[in-house]
Amino acid sequence: MKAMVLNRLVSLHENKTPLELVTLPAPIPGEHELLLKVTVCGVCHTELDEIEGRTPPPWLPVVLGHQVVGTVEAMGKQASRFQAGDRVGVAWIHSSCGQCHYCRAGDDNLCPDFRATGRDVNGGYAEYMTVPEDFAYPIPAVFTDAEAAPLLCAGAIGYRSLKLTGLKDGENLGLTGFGASAHLVLMMARQRYPHSDIFVFARSPGEREFARELGAAWAGDTEEDPPEKLACMIDTTPVWKPIVEALKNLQPGGRLVINAIRKEDVDKSSLLELDYPTHLWMEKEIKSVANVSRTDVSEFLELAASIPIKPKFQEYPLEQANQALVELKERKIRGAKVLRVAAN
Ligand SMILES: [Zn+2]
Ligand SMILES: [Zn+2]
Repeated sequence: MKAMVLNRLVSLHENKTPLELVTLPAPIPGEHELLLKVTVCGVCHTELDEIEGRTPPPWLPVVLGHQVVGTVEAMGKQASRFQAGDRVGVAWIHSSCGQCHYCRAGDDNLCPDFRATGRDVNGGYAEYMTVPEDFAYPIPAVFTDAEAAPLLCAGAIGYRSLKLTGLKDGENLGLTGFGASAHLVLMMARQRYPHSDIFVFARSPGEREFARELGAAWAGDTEEDPPEKLACMIDTTPVWKPIVEALKNLQPGGRLVINAIRKEDVDKSSLLELDYPTHLWMEKEIKSVANVSRTDVSEFLELAASIPIKPKFQEYPLEQANQALVELKERKIRGAKVLRVAAN
């Protein structure tokens, strides 16, 4: 099978072709696993963190990609949830231990032994992949494969972030960063909290314009002062400065949810600007969001189908994965990025 593999960790500023197109043997499903014929795979900022070593794969080469849509091609002997030809999705969590305190409580996103798709096991930048059947999700019919892919990570983690803000209808929400996840949060929030105004902070004018098109009440640069203080904020940027700015813009008792698996070190010194009375006092809270549980993915797919929330996306052939990654790094973004692996 064709696959785009990561052979070594590199900086994308120095190396614009981190992935190599190779031919690999198709994987064989284990007893409880499915073999999927991949049609599309979303491109996530986490791939940049893997390539550049902030969340490095434990072994190389590895096939990246954790927003996978495909059809069931074959099954292990003990797998019975799906049938050949069923359309399913795979998200970031490829498996969890099933035994620990967190797994038993349904918080498999916090399992210390979870394995990540496209980091700890091969993912969807390839024609085939395997997944335990319990970690595959039926895709609602209302979505095309390419529409569904960004929902599996960007959408589901946006859903979890929004849940963690504790936002109530009528309270205003700030989004700092406006990529694949935030644009879906905006669409979701406008449906779920129709009386809430949404304020978007983004570096690029294109992203700000896109936010206004999707219904943001206000969009400004990261360091601009919004017209009002905010009850909740979600940060989806890869850096630190927006966190400091967001804390300044929170109302008393407000909460900042940080949706990023890792932060880059480039502007870490911004944290020295933290001034206790300006940024933290008055019971302001900070909470990070880690991964997505199976429940989040299932709930979100159902919610997204019922509204429906359809992501805006740009499609690239699998062979152009490097171009998609470099454009993501350079923040040439309008919605989500999706790799086309096979026609559906
Ligand atoms: Zn992701
Ligand atoms: Zn566990």
